[in-house]
Amino acid sequence: MFEKILIANRGEIALRIQRACREMGIKTVAVHSEADAEAKYVRLADESVCIGPAPSAKSYLHVPAIIAAAEVTDAEAIHPGYGFLSENADFAERVEQSGFVFIGPRPDTIRLMGDKVSAKDAMRAAGVPCVPGSEGALGEDTDEWMRMANDIGYPIIIKAAGGGGGRGMRVVHTDAALIQSVQMTQNEAGAAFNNPMVYMEKYLQNPRHIEIQVLADEHGNAVHLGERDCSMQRRHQKILEEAPAPGLDPKLRNKIGERCAEACRQFGYRGAGTFEFLYENGEFYFIEMNTRVQVEHPVTELITGVDIVQETIRIAAGETLSVKQKDVHFRGHAIECRINAEDPYTFVPSPGRITLYHAAGGPGIRVDSHVYQNYYVPPHYDSMIGKLISYGATREQAIARMRIALSEMIVEGIKTNIPLHQELLNDAAVLQGGMSIHYLETKLGMHKKG
Ligand code: ADP
Repeated sequence: MFEKILIANRGEIALRIQRACREMGIKTVAVHSEADAEAKYVRLADESVCIGPAPSAKSYLHVPAIIAAAEVTDAEAIHPGYGFLSENADFAERVEQSGFVFIGPRPDTIRLMGDKVSAKDAMRAAGVPCVPGSEGALGEDTDEWMRMANDIGYPIIIKAAGGGGGRGMRVVHTDAALIQSVQMTQNEAGAAFNNPMVYMEKYLQNPRHIEIQVLADEHGNAVHLGERDCSMQRRHQKILEEAPAPGLDPKLRNKIGERCAEACRQFGYRGAGTFEFLYENGEFYFIEMNTRVQVEHPVTELITGVDIVQETIRIAAGETLSVKQKDVHFRGHAIECRINAEDPYTFVPSPGRITLYHAAGGPGIRVDSHVYQNYYVPPHYDSMIGKLISYGATREQAIARMRIALSEMIVEGIKTNIPLHQELLNDAAVLQGGMSIHYLETKLGMHKKG
């Protein structure tokens, strides 16, 4: 096992990884920007290195500074967390070339999955069900686009191969709008992602977002840890997640989960990964794979008892998975509310000093957060300040516990989305479960294309 790991991230996930390391007896190095110098996890780390000024491009995304920090502290491995450099194949490659272990998949796997066209091709070949659409990127023949769109049937969605974060997508309803829409998406994709390739998919009108968590080691073992329902989204950003997905047939879970695990064995996948699907009328349709630990991993940890972050470290150290599929059992229900420093209804970020802070507690409650009273939420980064996670024997109990936790949670001095979560946990449709990805925006009266 490693003696020392550098954590190339910030905020709650830096603390989460640090806790995993401490439990495993591994020393940690925190790297931080000038804006995060006072952070709790920086102080708790065995060593810390300032890697640059507040803007991410000059600190958390600044590869030479991170590699240099690993060199001066003699760290053996680098954990990228999520966001920042976690899905950057060039970074993973640099880490390995510099003689460190990258805690994540091989660079070529990250590259394969980072291009949505090649990811979908690989999934199709591995027998993972995909959204019907163009095979590969669109060529130059506009008549061909027209034929394809009519074969698939409108509405269709044009998506950038290099897209991410909900950007680079356009829904098209008619032949008349097709050519211009494709060209506009190509232009935008070229500018935003440096890759003008786009592809076409059937636009599913009322799907749920259901994703499968997998773990795979370097010895050919892969397991799935079931699914998470992340349909509660605004602007394609998840805000509340749960596991298991309400109403999903356990037989179907095992079937799709095993398909994902088998795909991992075929690709020689390594580490934690998530297969994201749209789910409609009882069918799963693959949209993309995330080659890293996800924000919402705790709900899976709570219902399976598997520590996903510790597994990523063990896998990177060359160990075999600590669980076999037959040992993975799903017990109870877990819900996660992402607590963001933002206006609950307009989503405008609300950075600043937290003047009063009380964390929730009690049976079945987990708080993954790096903030504390008098903490200053810097304006430079993502607005998430923590995650409130509840566990119950049943979904009803997990909801009841979450309601209590939300009422106990006090964060003053900045705005948070706690009121929105409270509203959602008293909403009849949410209580019933199984809403589509459009539910939240429709409820909030935000109208979207498509
Ligand atoms: P990103 O990498 O930008 O998150 P995804 O491919 O995961 O892109 O898609 C993001 C979101 O866009 C999905 O969660 C869903 O809400 C919507 N979306 C993507 N593809 C489709 C589709 N074929 N039909 C309907 N909605 C889609």
